[in-house]
Order: sequence, then structure tokens, then C-alpha cells
Amino acid sequence: MSLETFEQVLGKFLDPENGVPLAAGRQVHEVRLDGTAVKIRVAFSSYVAPLYPELRDQISELARTYLPGAQRVDVEIIEHPRPAIPAGQLGLTAKSVILVGSGKGGVGKSTVALSVALALKKAGCKVGLLDADVYGPSVPQLTGVRGQAAKAGDKIAAFDYDGMKLMSIGYMVPADKAVIWRGPMLHSAVTTFLRDVEWGNLDFLIIDMPPGTGDIALTLSQVIPGASAVVVCTPQEVALIDAVKAVAMFQQVKIPVVGVVENMSSFICPDTGKRYDIFGKGGARQYAEEAGLPFLGEIPINIGIRERGDAGESAANFSDPTVAPFLEKIAYQLVRYLSQKAVQSPVKLQLPVL
Ligand code: ADP
Repeated sequence: MSLETFEQVLGKFLDPENGVPLAAGRQVHEVRLDGTAVKIRVAFSSYVAPLYPELRDQISELARTYLPGAQRVDVEIIEHPRPAIPAGQLGLTAKSVILVGSGKGGVGKSTVALSVALALKKAGCKVGLLDADVYGPSVPQLTGVRGQAAKAGDKIAAFDYDGMKLMSIGYMVPADKAVIWRGPMLHSAVTTFLRDVEWGNLDFLIIDMPPGTGDIALTLSQVIPGASAVVVCTPQEVALIDAVKAVAMFQQVKIPVVGVVENMSSFICPDTGKRYDIFGKGGARQYAEEAGLPFLGEIPINIGIRERGDAGESAANFSDPTVAPFLEKIAYQLVRYLSQKAVQSPVKLQLPVL
């Protein structure tokens, strides 16, 4: 077995973002054998940043298999500049638009939307979060980012939270004005958010949806044809019934559901470490399995999540070892599932004519 054979094998490794072999995407930058040390430098775009650790492991494994004499394998991942393409006709550029919905309020939908967005951002993705929950925009509360939307040239400036772009219906209308919008007004508000906010070039736009209603989902299905949805529920049976309705609502407007998240799944007592399944156990996972939907993970009931949410310090959840791994896993599973779908139907690569 030779370096050349390994280079050929590595060239056939599929980019999880689009299912295209690395060689075709010109993403292998270096393969060097120095005595018994192998140095490999490959490029993937920030879209698959949560998968970097496992990509490193897989390529390392490949090198050890094909170059059995290698004592040291060093795999470096650098960023492949692959800009987003327009999502729909409104001028939004994002590789994936993920709508986070629930059948009813209070299940932690906004907390999950924000946490997924933050976890993707922390892994290295370019992320925007749009709080489109017209009936109770809670992202300003959860993040502590407050203010009124302002113009930036002919666009609306996005707010910044921990390096992530943020916009909320709460920055557009005064907090004391109850928003009771229907049909055309909702349609135009959502269109404004997508068309006029300066989102830049995003890997992911996460949208915190209003609970239950189909109005905004219908608009989004029309203006962003490639959007997909994540449904949040608690393990309790009544919440699951609502989740089933949310899934049906997304399916009705032809938005594929790419994940179910179970929130408030259990309480781990900080004093004893004992687990209490306050709202029952495993219901969402079972439902997802039965419905043939990916189960992305669960988040325990945790006093810290509630306290940090109330204090506008939700980003600090990522410094809490009893919470962070759950949030990171959900973001990882989401990207993994999206990439599995991409690899099953790889894009045709347009190589530049030299
Ligand atoms: P929704 O968007 O579904 O209405 P929120 O995300 O606004 O729900 O959450 C409602 C309340 O529950 C907030 O106070 C939030 O901090 C809290 N909360 C959400 N998830 C958890 C959890 N896993 N553990 C503890 N509190 C939570």
C-alpha cells in the first residue's frame, strides 16, 4: 500500500455537505509522509463544522488503514469557502433554513431554537436566529439583547448575540403592543424579515415559529422552498398530541420535518444525582420512531436553564456541563441528518472551466 493509493481513497471521501468526493471539490490540500508521520490537510465548509471531529477521526482511520506503517497521523481541517446560495427569491442567502415549531406554547420551543442556533455557532457555523413568534417573542428575554430594529443602509441591521445574527418581532413592535396578526400582516412581516434584514451569508437560519398556527409556515413554504422543520415537545402524552398536530401542520404545507426534540425530559436532582421523570419518559423518542422521523435528542429539566433564560444569559448554558452536552448533541444530530440526506442525493458539481 502506498501514499498514492491512500491519496486516491481520500479523494473519493464524500463531503457530507453535498455528497461530492473531496477530489472533485478540490478539497484535499496536502498529503505528506514524513518518515513515519502523515500530515493531511483537507477542507470542509463551516456548514458541517459540528461534524469536524468525526471527519477528522474518519480520515485518520482511513490513513491508518491504508498506511499501516504510519506512527503518527495528523489531520488538519481548514475552512473550504463555499458560499451559501439564495434560499428562495427574497434575497436571503442561507444553506439551510430550519423552522422550530411546537403544537403549543411553553414547551421550550424558543429555548430549543436559541440553543440549537448557539450550538451550531459555537461549533463554527455561520448562524442567524429569527424570532418569528408573533404571539410571544421571547428571544429578547432569553438573550438579554434588547432594543429597536434600526436601518443599515437600505436594510435592517441584525442584532448580534455571541457572534450570531439575531432578529425578533420584539425588536419591531413595542413590547406593550399585543400582536394579534392574521394572514396578510403575518405574511408581510415574515417577508420583511427575510428580505430586508442584513443576514449576510449564512449556513443556517433558525426560525423560532409561533406555536400551533400554520399561517407563518404556509408563507415560509412559499417563499423558502427548501426550508425544513424541527418539532419540540415534552414527554407527556398531551404534549405529544400537540406535537403530532405540529408535524401534520408542517407536512400539510410540504415542509419536511427533519427532527423531533424532547424538552423537559427528566430532572436530575443536583443534590443526589437521582433522575426523576416528571413528565414521563421517552415519549417523544418513541413517537419519532413510530412516525419515521429523526429523534435529535432530549434536554433535561434544569433550574439553570430557567434561571439563565430569565436573566437573559442563555449562552451561559454552554458553560454548564449538566446542560451543554445535550444542546450540542441536538445540533450535531441535526447536521448529521441533513448531511446524510445530502449524501444520498449528491449535488452535481460544476467545476470551473480551466
Ligand atoms: P416556548 O417557546 O415553547 O413558549 P420557552 O422556550 O419560552 O417556551 O420556555 C418557557 C419557559 O420554560 C422559560 O422560562 C424557559 O427558561 C423554561 N425552560 C425551557 N426549557 C427548559 C428546561 N429544559 N429546563 C428548565 N426550564 C426550561
